[in-house]
Amino acid sequence: MNAQTQAPHIIVTEVGTRDGFQAEPDFIPTERKVEVINGLIDAGVQSFETTSFVSPRAVPQMADAMQVMAQVRRKPGVRLTGLVPNARGAERAAAARVDMMACFVSASETHCQANLNKSKADALADVHEFTPIARQFNIPVRGAVATAFGCPFEGEVATQSVLDVIASYHAAGIRHVSLGDTTGMATPPVVRRTVKAIQQQFPDVLIALHFHNTRGIGLANVMAGLDLGVVEYESSIGGLGGCPFAPGATGNICTEDLVYLLHESGFHTGIDLEAVAAVARSVQDWMGKPLPGQYMKSGPRLKQSDLSSVRRAVG
Ligand code: ZN
Repeated sequence: MNAQTQAPHIIVTEVGTRDGFQAEPDFIPTERKVEVINGLIDAGVQSFETTSFVSPRAVPQMADAMQVMAQVRRKPGVRLTGLVPNARGAERAAAARVDMMACFVSASETHCQANLNKSKADALADVHEFTPIARQFNIPVRGAVATAFGCPFEGEVATQSVLDVIASYHAAGIRHVSLGDTTGMATPPVVRRTVKAIQQQFPDVLIALHFHNTRGIGLANVMAGLDLGVVEYESSIGGLGGCPFAPGATGNICTEDLVYLLHESGFHTGIDLEAVAAVARSVQDWMGKPLPGQYMKSGPRLKQSDLSSVRRAVG
């Protein structure tokens, strides 16, 4: 980025109430989900992956999708997205008045089978079946590509496999994709290779990046995306979430840590960092376990510490 040009506005999409809570074994009460979203809307977050319209039998944590959508505060300029697996889900999402539908297909055939219990071809056929419903209700669709940077079963994922999923999305009229680092296998070189290939082949497609911090380099991957001009990132409050294939591993990159990085790097988000950190602390409190987010524990970089509180001679 050249110093003369103004730093772009970065969209931070909060996925904690979907991706984060979905990893929790115990049902999170609907009021808690709504409280998190409303608190983050007040803090200036403008984009949410709010819930999922998958079958409640398959994912009981998301069984309250309709109630969550009915209870969250609506505010102009705030986009509430619902995950949609098929035509049935699209009908429910439209009835719940989502602002955007998100579909998801894995770049890896094995992960697609394991996660969705269907082949990539069948999952893409479902997308082509439901996109006309979204269009009928004038609801835009974002296409997520899961395991875009690596697969826990197949290892390296060929860039071509990612491009093939996006080509199918493109044919269904989708112009907004999110590359999911489902199990935290992205590294800056893999991000650069994949994003550059998409930018070259699909210049009319808006790219969002969805990183997990499974191996501790989630924000380094964000930096790689920023260098390539990517302006949308998905993260979860407090770093909620996990990885089903790595017990104990951290989840999504953390929203307040991401916002801290973006602001310190001169980007605009429209988000009040301290207000987001306060929401993270309250989620940590009622969940009753430490969350991975760092900023909520440390506070601002130029926070003035009291000299008398310094412990001496401890190395
Ligand atoms: Zn995820």
